[in-house]
Amino acid sequence: MPNSFPEKCPICKKPVSNASKPFCSQGCKDRDLLQWLGDGYRLPGPPADYADSLAIDEKD
Ligand SMILES: [Zn+2]
Repeated sequence: MPNSFPEKCPICKKPVSNASKPFCSQGCKDRDLLQWLGDGYRLPGPPADYADSLAIDEKD
């Protein structure tokens, strides 16, 4: 069945270009990737100091 909906860039809602699907441009592709990485950096984890003190404890 034919897709009659014009595809739009999920970042800026401009029409998608075939070269950068599913985005309108390489710039929006990069922005999407950065958003993805940004989510990863926000994952909770122990602070570095905490990991260091654990390593010292395990030595002895
Ligand atoms: Zn875009």
